[in-house]
Formats: sequence, structure tokens, C-alpha cells
Amino acid sequence: MTDKYFKLKVSTDKPVNDLIVGLLSDVGAEGFVEEENELICYFSEGNWNSSFESEVSKFLSNLKIEGKISRFTIDISEIQNQDWNREWEESIIPIEVTKDIVIKPSWKEYKGEAKIIIEIDPKMSFGTGHHETTRMMVQLLERFVKAGAKLLDVGTGTGVLAIAAVKLGASSCIAVDTDDWSIENARENIERNGAAGKIELIGGEIGSVRETEFDIITANLNRNTLLYIKSELYVRCAADGILMLAGILTLDEKDVVAAYEQAGFKKVDEIREAEWSAVVLRK
Ligand code: SAH
Repeated sequence: MTDKYFKLKVSTDKPVNDLIVGLLSDVGAEGFVEEENELICYFSEGNWNSSFESEVSKFLSNLKIEGKISRFTIDISEIQNQDWNREWEESIIPIEVTKDIVIKPSWKEYKGEAKIIIEIDPKMSFGTGHHETTRMMVQLLERFVKAGAKLLDVGTGTGVLAIAAVKLGASSCIAVDTDDWSIENARENIERNGAAGKIELIGGEIGSVRETEFDIITANLNRNTLLYIKSELYVRCAADGILMLAGILTLDEKDVVAAYEQAGFKKVDEIREAEWSAVVLRK
């Protein structure tokens, strides 16, 4: 058991966290804490390599040359295992996604006014409410979910959107994810929120979902996956059903919407935050 961790902190003047997360999760970073324009990445001693600093520095220098950022700093420090756990847990604070909906970890109390509390213990799966794309999807669910709706959540991660939908009145939700670890984590979160009777979890691709006629489909993935599965989503959407897409960089929004319009959907709503877009389409 490693008891030493390395902490790499990147600060920039513009948001580039997602690019750095992509770069470092591939080489073994085990946890991330995101602030605006600041990202902390944790590595256990066994996964740490002192070359990471120069690799990240090279990557950020290129972004600077391209004019995407104008300054950056990188700090490296060593910490003890207990400290990283505590530091990470402390960083997961309750998030008021709308005035009525809060996402919080089980280890933190929430004393505000929101009526809908979603309890998510993230454990390395994606979907804590700390990411813009998750928050935008929850806001859209609040706008569009009607009592009794039947939902499909593609790429459920922690299960956060499926749980939010049920708490907003959906009568059932099928939630799929290709990652076994996410399915396990989603199962725990769904039980913790008392939603097990209404959510069915499926490990695998959207092709494993036999049912059709969904009133609402959510898919917070990425541009390429969204382009790839558009027909699969179309056949599963009810006539007049709603499709919510996120994980789209605003610079890719036009392309993704055009592809979905070609597949038969019409765009009806959108939200943009930082560099991200979430779009709502109707069949
Ligand atoms: N729905 C959550 C998590 C989104 S992250 C939220 O909004 O916060 C995307 C999730 O999709 C990850 O858990 C990943 O494992 C899963 N995923 C990626 N590609 C997929 C695919 N082709 N089919 C199903 N799930 C996929």
C-alpha cells in the first residue's frame, strides 16, 4: 500500500482543465480536484514519474504558442496518503445546481433551502456535479422531465442524471455505461437515494438496450461518441420525445446539431457554460 502521493497543481488564466485531465488520466493520475482555472492531480508513488512535470509544461507551452492561454504555473508536492483522501473528500462540497436541486456527497451536510437532495459518492466515476456538463444536464432535466416520464441515460457514470430524473418525477429509467466500475458505483448511489425500484442498470453499449419509446434520453458523452450513436438514439426515442446531449465543446456544437438534424431531430433548447454546450432536440 502506497502511503505517499504526488500532487501536481496546474494554474492557468483560461480553463484548460479538461485537456489536462485527458492527458494525465491516461498516465495514471488517480484523482482530480478542479477549481476554475486550477487543477490538482493526485498520483500514488508507484504511478508517479518525474517526467510528468516537463510533459505538462511542454503541453501548456504549446497552448500558449497557439494563444489559448497566456500564462501557466505548475507546482509539484509530496503528501501522505491520509492527507490526499482527506483533501479530496473536503473538496467535494455540496453544489446547488439550481435553487431546488443540490448534489452532495454522503459525508457532507447540506443546510440550505433546496428541496431535492441527490447524494452522490463519486469514487473516481464521473458525475459529481462539479463538472459543467453534469450541471447543465440536471438543469435541463428540471425543465423537461414530466411526472411519469420514461427515461434512458446513456453513459450514466455515478448515476447522477438517472437519480435526478427519478427525483423529478420520472417513473422509470434505464441507465447504461460501458465502464464496470461506473456501474458498480452507480448501483451504490441509486440505492443510497432510494431509487433502486425505478432504475435499471445495464453494463455495455447502447446496443444492449432492447426497449424503445423513451420520452427523454440523456447522453453526456463526447463529440465523437455522440456522432457515432445518433441513429441508435433516434430509434429508441419516442415520437415527439426529447433528447438531451452534453459533453460537446461549444466550438463543435454546430457540427453535432447538424448531424442530429440530419438524423431527424429538431433543436429546441440549449445551455452554454464555460467552453461547453448542452443541447435539447425533439424527434
Ligand atoms: N451521466 C454522467 C456521467 C457522464 S461521463 C454525468 O452527466 O455526469 C460519461 C460516461 O459515459 C462515463 O461513465 C463513461 O464510462 C460512459 N461511456 C463512454 N462511452 C460510452 C458508450 N459508448 N456507451 C455507454 N457509456 C459510455
